[in-house]
Amino acid sequence: MLFDKFQTMADFQAELAEKEVKPFGAVTEKFLSPTQGIVGGYEVILAGTNNYLGLAYEPSCIEAARKAAEQWGTGTTGSRLANGSFIGHQLLEQELADFYGVSHAITFTTGYSATMGMCATLAGPGDVILLDADSHASIYAGVKLSGADIIRFKHSNPDDLAKRLRRLGDRTSNTLIVVEGIYSMLGDVAPLKEIAAVKREYGGYLFVDEAHSLGVLGATGRGAAEAAGVEEDVDFLAGTFSKSLGSTGGYCVSQHADLDIIRYCIHAYIFTASASPSVVASTRQALKLLREQPELRVKLWLNANQLYAALKEMGLPPGPDISPVVAVELEDRDQAIRCWNALMEAGVYVNLVIPPASPSTNFLLRCSVSAAHTSEQIDTIISAFAKLIKNGQISSRQAS
Ligand code: PMP
Repeated sequence: MLFDKFQTMADFQAELAEKEVKPFGAVTEKFLSPTQGIVGGYEVILAGTNNYLGLAYEPSCIEAARKAAEQWGTGTTGSRLANGSFIGHQLLEQELADFYGVSHAITFTTGYSATMGMCATLAGPGDVILLDADSHASIYAGVKLSGADIIRFKHSNPDDLAKRLRRLGDRTSNTLIVVEGIYSMLGDVAPLKEIAAVKREYGGYLFVDEAHSLGVLGATGRGAAEAAGVEEDVDFLAGTFSKSLGSTGGYCVSQHADLDIIRYCIHAYIFTASASPSVVASTRQALKLLREQPELRVKLWLNANQLYAALKEMGLPPGPDISPVVAVELEDRDQAIRCWNALMEAGVYVNLVIPPASPSTNFLLRCSVSAAHTSEQIDTIISAFAKLIKNGQISSRQAS
């Protein structure tokens, strides 16, 4: 039967319902502040959003969105290729190109469609895509659609990438290498310096998804490529507006003029309605703040360091690098669910991640830190994890 394949999910959801926990799709009923809300009936600190710079609730971004809705209406009702290109979309693209110091930028309605659309279109039948094995679902979706030959290399392993490029010989001139800046599940940073060196040696085109690193890494917040000093080696840099910029949408920038032609070939760009004027306006304002207020990034890193150091100190295993994504990996599903519930009861909302959110991750209690968190709120998050240890719900022996 058509629905047989959904039975495992139905059983899992029924099991959760029996335990009266709702970690997936938990409904936020109210915002009390940029970092506090009522979620699933609990008053909690929001420690599982990707609101890295705290701009999702920023008054000037809200005001920009309000004004744009009044002036331009609530939606564009059409694709960028037809009636859905407003002056705001064009200005946002110019501002992104200016921010990255490149000549070309495209914006998309979601971050997912940006990475999926670019990967699906840049490479085609006869080409090769070499992608990091731990790539985001949007990358896997695009790569599958592309029709290119797909080769995975070991996660963040430049030697494995080099080995596979070497085997490709002349085909490297038709090869797209796809990596991310900060990986979304464990918060580890890609070794872009080494990856760029491999690309320089063997050839190929480098595509970097900076979804979790825009506004987070780099001297001016451009991301992991800026931090690694390899922006010149990146052919296509994509990202999302839904994390540091607190809205929705995605983008791709490039120094290749071909990007302007490619835009007319991307189905995820031409066959979908463009972003609403209010979304474009708040994104533009958030990008302005990202550029003008580097102190947001400084505060974000203070918070990230505070949480990461404390969890490590108590013997929990956060990911390999300090970053605003601080995830504790667990082996057991029921334990992960129990811990998530106990954190909610202690007033802390984090993301519960169940495999296969990314190919090599386990069960995760994934926190994402914001510049808007106060140091006291980070302390409360730390105390909630300490309580899990005290109550025997997590053993600090699980430290890596
Ligand atoms: N790329 C990566 C690496 C992501 O983590 C995400 C979102 N989690 C996306 C793309 C998609 O972005 P959005 O949610 O803005 O569509």
